[in-house]
Amino acid sequence: MRIVDICEVTKPISSPIRNAYIDFSKMTASLVAVVTDVVKDGRRVVGYGFNSNGRYGQGGLIRERFRDRILEADPASLMNDAGDNLDAHKIWAAIMQNEKPGGHGERSVAVGTIDMAVWDAISKIEEKPLFRMLAERKGVEANPRVFVYAAGGYYYPGKDNSALRNEMRGYLERGYTVVKMKIGGASIDEDQRRIEAVLAEIRDEAQLAVDANGRFDLETALAYAKMLRQYPLFWYEEIGDPLDYQLQAAMAEFYPGSMATGENLFSHQDARNLIRYGGMRPDRDWLQFDCALSYGLVEYLRTLDMLDQLGWSPSRCIPHGGHQMSLNIAAGLSLGGNESYPDLFQPYGGFPDGVKVEDGHIIMPELPGIGFEGKSDLIAVMRDLVE
Ligand SMILES: [Mg+2]
Repeated sequence: MRIVDICEVTKPISSPIRNAYIDFSKMTASLVAVVTDVVKDGRRVVGYGFNSNGRYGQGGLIRERFRDRILEADPASLMNDAGDNLDAHKIWAAIMQNEKPGGHGERSVAVGTIDMAVWDAISKIEEKPLFRMLAERKGVEANPRVFVYAAGGYYYPGKDNSALRNEMRGYLERGYTVVKMKIGGASIDEDQRRIEAVLAEIRDEAQLAVDANGRFDLETALAYAKMLRQYPLFWYEEIGDPLDYQLQAAMAEFYPGSMATGENLFSHQDARNLIRYGGMRPDRDWLQFDCALSYGLVEYLRTLDMLDQLGWSPSRCIPHGGHQMSLNIAAGLSLGGNESYPDLFQPYGGFPDGVKVEDGHIIMPELPGIGFEGKSDLIAVMRDLVE
């Protein structure tokens, strides 16, 4: 058994939306296929992966550096001890040979994308849904019912508060119980009017989370905290620069409600620094590390171990990104849920066909691998790459 090829293509996932920091007019994503020589039911086993939205495609790093490290490794060195499947941890080690520590800029995105495809292949070879395989290996019970929330509320040319309300109404009609909107891309007064418009629309049918996308300096962060704390928000997300742990720690004095951050921390070491120095509170705050941006599930397992050692439950993790990889991790390893973007970043985001949100949760279908084969628009694009 061996990996015979790794293919990458960089695809546009552009849209006219913007948050407080970036627009998505030139956004791209890498799509990766890990091709094995294993055949199941007459079809070659191919694992697929892609990087989460918000960071660009990583074709250069994948094609010029990481692909060859896997293909040039002794195939036996990438197998598990039983010799009946690939080993994601050994493949990860092969990818990361001759890489210095620290500086987790874009390398972590490239590795996370390949890692997703590796786990897809491994669970397909085992003929199990990834979430069941993860739960079995950990010795825990899988829970196929996963909390999801609707991330939207972007700034958009010509979008007024009635369009924002309609957008949120649409999420409620689709079964969501928590919705999220962007803040920090307008004046604080205008953002307050936007928040009040949404709260008037959703009333007690749902809760609202707000996301500043790392935009605020301390002074602005505090001004917003004082404005926001009068509302019953689900969380106040990514307030300041993702690496400014002192700013994050200062917020706890001024904002008694839940806060969330972590989508732009790309290693378990950075995640550990957030827990050590960021003042995050394990009884109410949320962690949003996204494996598809941060060296993949092999690294995410290290992050979960670190959280356990520092007294955090995995149920405080609700990853960024809205992809099926994190749905599997949530269902298999007892995370608190997953982000979802009902109308954005297609065909990569979202759920397998026929999966519906009910009372803010989805039920994972029993598909081998990550479940991409159950999403017809996505698997069509994936199979175009190699099959
Ligand atoms: Mg965010």
